[in-house]
Amino acid sequence: MEVDYLIVGQGIAGTMLSYYLLQQSNTVTIIDNYNPSSASNIASGVINPITGRRFVRTWMIETLMPFAVNAYQALEKELNISLIQQTNLLDFHSTPQMQLAFTNRLPTETEYLRVPENSLQWKKYFNYPFGVGETHPTWLVNLQLLIQTWRKKLCTQQLLIAEHFSIEALQIHPSYIQYQGIQAKAIIFCNGTQAANLPYFQKLPFAPNKGEALILAIQQLPRQHIYKQSLSLVPCQNNLWWAGSSYEWNYEHANPTEVFRQKTLQQLQQWLQLPFEIKAHVAAERPATLERRPFIGMHPYFPQIGIFNGLGTKGCSLAPYFAKVFSEHLKYGQPLIPEVAIHRFHKILAP
Ligand SMILES: Cc1cc2nc3c(=O)[nH]c(=O)nc-3n(C[C@H](O)[C@H](O)[C@H](O)COP(=O)(O)OP(=O)(O)OC[C@H]3O[C@@H](n4cnc5c(N)ncnc54)[C@H](O)[C@@H]3O)c2cc1C
Repeated sequence: MEVDYLIVGQGIAGTMLSYYLLQQSNTVTIIDNYNPSSASNIASGVINPITGRRFVRTWMIETLMPFAVNAYQALEKELNISLIQQTNLLDFHSTPQMQLAFTNRLPTETEYLRVPENSLQWKKYFNYPFGVGETHPTWLVNLQLLIQTWRKKLCTQQLLIAEHFSIEALQIHPSYIQYQGIQAKAIIFCNGTQAANLPYFQKLPFAPNKGEALILAIQQLPRQHIYKQSLSLVPCQNNLWWAGSSYEWNYEHANPTEVFRQKTLQQLQQWLQLPFEIKAHVAAERPATLERRPFIGMHPYFPQIGIFNGLGTKGCSLAPYFAKVFSEHLKYGQPLIPEVAIHRFHKILAP
């Protein structure tokens, strides 16, 4: 079988890249071994324009957020599913310092930050001695539904191979690659944290980090907001709530831990005034990078091998825009911005 592109991995990176490559009439085959505990499958799916303790805007959010919203809405129509909803984030300040940082930021960040009307109205749900701020709008993407539905569509069109990809079976030729019975102009790795094990990319400054979340049933908590105080409570599938997350750089394994469970239970008991029940506990590694910028492009010394990775904590907002940009780079040779282009590492990538 001959195709233009062979893609390895169908998390949000592989999903969006295959979507745009197919839209541009390329032929594509995807290999993905379906991991229910991949980062994309356990993420809460929030797009938040504001980040950190100083309430600053996230990188490129003015471009990324509207692009992502349009892209997910177009996919909703194409796949006939409900994928994205606008919401807001209520940030119950955890200390007087956080309250002050929010208040100091308000006059300069008038687009995304505000003080909610009647800020005492959540007292029956939460304990919050230091007030509440609001980020608006935020967006909530159902990544799991997108990935499952896109996977079904790819399977129906016989474009997906549900297998583990084995690098030993990859043959690189001057103008094409061969993998088992597939010949492609290029192979593109969208395989999340597993890319750090590939001989072609292992020198890149990956900095994977682990995140865990509890899935909770909470009766009577209004579902139109995201709530935050150190940890976030995000409405998720089946009328449940996603409670997380941790950011661990030193960890022995990628599985759920008792330490996280106990710490989160303690936080919830202090903050949440409603009874709750734990339904599940999930964990995954985020494909993050030292510079907190994606790795995108074709290998400077093996132009038949590409990568779309390093989406870190922001896969929902980064994947749509940069998948489109990458697909146009491949088709028309349009340059990638230097902050994301893999070419910035050409020295360390030399064989
Ligand atoms: C707890 C947690 C919460 C998060 N919350 C958010 C959030 O609210 N908003 C946000 O924007 N981001 C969030 N993220 C980050 C987001 O999940 C990631 O940025 C994004 O999912 C990365 O997508 P990816 O496709 O690059 O990698 P992955 O989701 O890891 O996908 C990689 C795919 O490649 C496949 N694969 C790997 N190796 C092979 C192989 N050898 N053969 C076949 N297939 C293979 C895997 O099975 C998987 O399907 C969160 C992450 C975590 C862990």
